[in-house]
Amino acid sequence: MALMSESQYIESMVSCRKKVFILGEEVADYSAHPLVRPSLNACALTYGLAESQAYSEVMLASSHLSGSTINRFTHLHQSNADLITKVRMLRLLGQKTGTCFQRCSGMDALAGVDFMTFNVDEAMGTDYHARFIEFLREVQDRDLVVDAAMTDPKGDRRRPPSKQSDRDMYVRIVDRRKEGVVVRGAKVSQTGALNSHEVLVMPTRALADEDSDYAICFAVPADTTGIVYVLGRQPSDTRKLERGGHDVGNRRFGGHEAIIFFQDVLVPWERVFLCGESRFAGQLVERFAAYHRQSYGGCKVGVGDVLIGAVQAIARYQGIDSAAHVKEKIVEMVHLNETLFACGLACSAVGLPSPSGTYGVDPLLANICKLNVTRFPYEIARLAQDIAGGLLVTLPSEKDFANPVVGPLLAKYLKGADCNSTEDRRRMLRLIENLTLGPGAACYLTESMHGAGSPQAQMIMLGRLAGLEEKVEFAESLAEIGDGGASPSPEGSTFRN
Ligand code: SF4
Ligand code: FE
Repeated sequence: MALMSESQYIESMVSCRKKVFILGEEVADYSAHPLVRPSLNACALTYGLAESQAYSEVMLASSHLSGSTINRFTHLHQSNADLITKVRMLRLLGQKTGTCFQRCSGMDALAGVDFMTFNVDEAMGTDYHARFIEFLREVQDRDLVVDAAMTDPKGDRRRPPSKQSDRDMYVRIVDRRKEGVVVRGAKVSQTGALNSHEVLVMPTRALADEDSDYAICFAVPADTTGIVYVLGRQPSDTRKLERGGHDVGNRRFGGHEAIIFFQDVLVPWERVFLCGESRFAGQLVERFAAYHRQSYGGCKVGVGDVLIGAVQAIARYQGIDSAAHVKEKIVEMVHLNETLFACGLACSAVGLPSPSGTYGVDPLLANICKLNVTRFPYEIARLAQDIAGGLLVTLPSEKDFANPVVGPLLAKYLKGADCNSTEDRRRMLRLIENLTLGPGAACYLTESMHGAGSPQAQMIMLGRLAGLEEKVEFAESLAEIGDGGASPSPEGSTFRN
C-alpha cells in the first residue's frame, strides 16, 4: 500500500497510542481533542488532496526506490522540477487549510538525512545510508507522517552540549547496547508531533569532537515506550472548546506544536543514522534548514493568499473595496506575498543534485526566502488589520449574536454593505483575527519568524554564502585596481550547492 486515504490516515492516528498531556492532564483520546483535531484535519488534507485527480500532478510522485506512485511528502527530489512542484504543493495546501499542515518538516528531514548519511558513509565506511534507505522505503510504502525533531531546549546558549550544567539539555546517547542505543533528552516546538507516525530525531547544531554523545540521528515510531508529549498553547486556543466554535475564525483547520521528552528510549541499530560522528551534525542541520526555508516560500504564501482574500472580502462587505487606498494596500499585500513565492521557486530552480543524487535547493536563495518570510507576513498582517478596522478586536461573541435580546441588535447595528449579511461580516473578521492575532497567527507570524531557524540563523548563513570577496573582485576589476582583477566567473556565485 503506497498511498493511504484521508480516512485511513485519521484512523491510523486514532489507533496510535502516544502518551500525551493537554492542559495538565493525560489524554488517551487526544486525536479527538478539540485542541488537536483541527491540526489533525490539516495534516489529513495532505492525504485527501492526494486522492483527488485534480491535484495528482502536484501531490503525487514516482518513487526513485520502487517506481510506485507515492505521496510527494515522502518523495526525495529527483530534479529541479520536483523542487518547484514541492513549493507549489505547499502553497496549495496553505490555501486549502489557512494554516500549518505539519507534514513538510518530515519531508525536509528525509532529504537532509539522505544527504548526510551518504556523506558519512563515503567518508567513514559506515552503513548509515543503507539503513536510512530502508526506513525511507517503509515511509513511502506505508505513506507515513514523519515528525522532524531538531530543536533541543539548549539550556545556557553560551555553552556547548557537553558543558551544560544539566547534560540532558540536548538529546544524547546515554548507553550503547547490543540491541541498540539508549537516548535521553527533549525536543521543543515540534510541529505536528501528535499527528505523526514516526519521529526522526536530528542534532540541532554543529558539534565538536567533545560533543560526540550528542551526534545522534535516528527514527522511532511516535508511540515508542519512553516518549512523552505535552501540547503547547496557542493564542485564544480555548475558543476551540466553545460550542459553535466560529469565534476561532477557522474551525476546521489549525496547527499545533508540542514538546517531546525522550526518557531513556531504546533505538534499534537499524534505525540509527548517525552515532557519534560529530563533524557531520552541522551539515545535516544546514541541509535540513535550507530545505525547510524553501518550504516557507510555499506554505506561508498559501496562507497569505487566504489572508489577502479575506481582506478583499471584508473590504467589500464594509463598502470600501473601491477606495483607492484600499486597492493600493491590497496590491502591496500581493506584491509581498508573490515575492516570497518567487524566492521559493528561485532557490528550487537553481538547486543542484547532491552526491546521493537527491536535488538540493540553492542555500543562499533558500535563506533569502526564509529571511523575507520573517518580515513580509508581518507587513501583510499589518495591512490586513488596517483595512479590517478596529471591530476586529471589539466584536462580541458568537453567543451574543445568538442571544434573543442582544442578537437582533448586533445583527442590525453591525451590518455593513448590503451585499452581505452581518453574519458574513462577523465570520470574515474572525478569520482575519485568527490569522493575525489568534491560533493562525502562531503559524502565520511567529512560526514565520522562528520556524526553520530564527532570523539571525539566516543572517549568519547569508554572511557565509554571500561571496563578498568575489564581489570585491568584480569591483576591482572594473576600477582597474591591483592586478586588474582576475576576471571572476561570468555567473558569479549563482550556483553554490
Ligand atoms: Fe509545513 Fe509550513 Fe508548517 Fe513548516 S510551517 S510544517 S513548511 S506548513
Ligand atoms: Fe515550521
